[in-house]
This record gives sequence, structure tokens and C-alpha cells, in this order.
Amino acid sequence: MPSTAAVIKALKQPLAFECREIPEPGPGEVLIRVAACGVCHSDLHAADGDWDPPPNVPIVPGHEVTGHVLRLGTGVNHLSVGDPVGVAWMGGACGRCAACLSGMETICPSGEATGYTRDGGYATHLVARADFVLPLPKGADLVALAPILCAGVTTYRALKRAGAKAGDFVGVIGVGGLGHVAIQYAKAMGYRAVAVDLAPEKLELALRLGAEAAVHAGPDAVARVMDETGGGLHAALVTATAPAAFEQALDMTRPGGTTVFVGLPGGAGDRIGVSIASLANWERSIRGSNVGTRADLAEAMGFALRGLVHCTTETMPFSAANEALERLRQGTVTGRLVLTMEE
Ligand code: ZN
Ligand code: ZN
Repeated sequence: MPSTAAVIKALKQPLAFECREIPEPGPGEVLIRVAACGVCHSDLHAADGDWDPPPNVPIVPGHEVTGHVLRLGTGVNHLSVGDPVGVAWMGGACGRCAACLSGMETICPSGEATGYTRDGGYATHLVARADFVLPLPKGADLVALAPILCAGVTTYRALKRAGAKAGDFVGVIGVGGLGHVAIQYAKAMGYRAVAVDLAPEKLELALRLGAEAAVHAGPDAVARVMDETGGGLHAALVTATAPAAFEQALDMTRPGGTTVFVGLPGGAGDRIGVSIASLANWERSIRGSNVGTRADLAEAMGFALRGLVHCTTETMPFSAANEALERLRQGTVTGRLVLTMEE
């Protein structure tokens, strides 16, 4: 049986479904029969060429991939055929540079990105670097866990980089695919989550998931957050992509607070205004956070496997990949869409 892949053949065009030869794993790689692949905003940015540099096409998007090992490349001896595994955005790193050696493989200049620089999981089959594949327990729910591979690890690492301590108020700005998971990690890590979003149904979801307060992102949002937290957030995670959300988040933090930038608007939305005095005089910080290392991924998955974090998922068949991207573009998705390959 051949392989089917949904391919970005040209930017800003619908994905093209192609029948391909089943790819062969090279040395140090594994061939995976894909079971499920979450649909992330980054897939849309890849398809639209919003980021600099855009992906080299043709490329298969998708970086929240789960499936089973089908074949081992030479030199792979820590995985077995039939093992359930996950594949994330972090598709490779050199392992030798200063960034890699200091535990920051997320910024390795030779890093490889699944679904952006190497083919991803919008396909029935996927070849991945074995060292970057996350082993999953036998019988794991491969649909429910798929979004942990990006939405989960990305928000988990961002929370770690926020440097908050148990009992601190942590704002989650934007309750989409990432934000609704971030709220659960925040709670599980002992923080008091405060959700900010424009959509009433997303604020309701945030409260159901354990947020202590849910604030409408209107003109009085900063004042409301100050009120709810007795003086501001200790840390804020911006998973929204509107530039105004980043500016508002900075104003929501208390002196000494940290704002972690996670969402990626791309294009013209990539610049914001910041008060220098509000950072310098009040020792506020801005940090960036980019997906996560393999260690972050294993930890983030651990929370999900222990039942502390559940991604709200809605499945769509792989054949509906273009419809899924369109729904994401329209902003009509609550939680995460997951494409299922095995019917
Ligand atoms: Zn993603
Ligand atoms: Zn490196």
C-alpha cells in the first residue's frame, strides 16, 4: 500500500493530496505509521508563508504526530517495531553546539523542524530522527495525546521559563489550542491561572479547566486583572497572536513580573510598542519561548499521562485537512482539531 500525504506545494494554496512511495528510514531514522496529527496554527503559517524564512516547498506540514514504529533505520536500537511514539516540532538538533550542550536545543542553529524543514504528519507515513521521537506507553490514547506534542510542550516550557512559584498568579492570554492547555499546566504546577480572551465561550472553558478568574480582553482588561490579582500577574503567557494582546499582557504584570511571548503573529504583526520605563524602573522582563526540548516534551507528556492535563480535541478525517485548516483560519475551533489517519 502506498503512502498518502497532504502537501504544501505552493504557498497560500490548499494542500494537495499526493500518493507517494512509502519513505525509507535512513540511518538513525524510523518510519512511523501515523495514527493522528493535531492541527496547529503554525501549520497555517507554514502553508501561507507568513514567517521568515517560509518553508521550502514542497513540504508536508504537521508536528503533533502520533503513531507506531513501522520500520527501523540502521543503528536504531532503542525503539522496536510496533512501539507507539510521538513526533514534535523539534525534529532534530546537532547535539554539539553551545546551545545544545547547555540544554537549549530549541535554539540550535542547525535545528530541524517537523512539518517545516522536514516532512511532517499530515500523511499516512512519516520518517523521523529516532533520537527525537518520544516513546509512548503501550495502549496510550494517540488522538488525545497528539496535541501535547506541540500545544502541551510549548505551554509547559513557557511556564517553566516564566519562573513563577507555587501560589503565583499566572495569566494565560488567549484561550485557544495552546491557552486551554496552558491553564491546566498552570494549575497542575501550583499556580493560580487567570485567563484572558475575547470569546465568552473560551472564558467559560477556562473556568471549567481550573482558571481562578476569566477576564474579557476588552478595554478594561488590565484594570480587571489588577483587581482580580491584587496588583497584577506574577507572570503572563501570551498565546494569542494579536499584537495588542502582547502589549496588554505587559501592562497586566506586577512589578518584577515576567511576560513570556509564545504566540507568533508573523508578517506585519511582528512589532509591538513597549514602555521602556515600565520594564527598567519596575524590573519587568520579557522572555521568549520556542516549543520545547526533548526533556520538556517528556515532562509535559508525563502530566498528560498522569491525567493532570487533557486537551479538548475534535477529530476530523485526514482527508479533511484543508477544511481543518480553514476552520482554524476562521477561528471557530474550541480546543484542538486532530486529523485521524487510520479508519
Ligand atoms: Zn504547533
Ligand atoms: Zn546544536
